[in-house]
Amino acid sequence: MGTCEYCGTRFPKTRSTRKYCTPRCKTNACLGRKPRRIRAAEVEALHALLHDEVESAAALRERLRQIIAPHLPPFESATVIPSLD
Ligand SMILES: [Zn+2]
Repeated sequence: MGTCEYCGTRFPKTRSTRKYCTPRCKTNACLGRKPRRIRAAEVEALHALLHDEVESAAALRERLRQIIAPHLPPFESATVIPSLD
């Protein structure tokens, strides 16, 4: 028997599920974990940002958030660019 690292449920250890009792727990654990690496596309976006003119610190923070934390809500102080629809 093993203990699920996400929900703590005891489950029979098999080759495919060693740490989590179900694929759902594995997915949830992955979503909850902070990424340790930055993807190549994100590094490229950060380099582009480095060479961009940014009008304020708030705008810079918002640009950074869009690149490395798109799942987080936008900073309210940042200038919102209106969409054209
Ligand atoms: Zn579990």
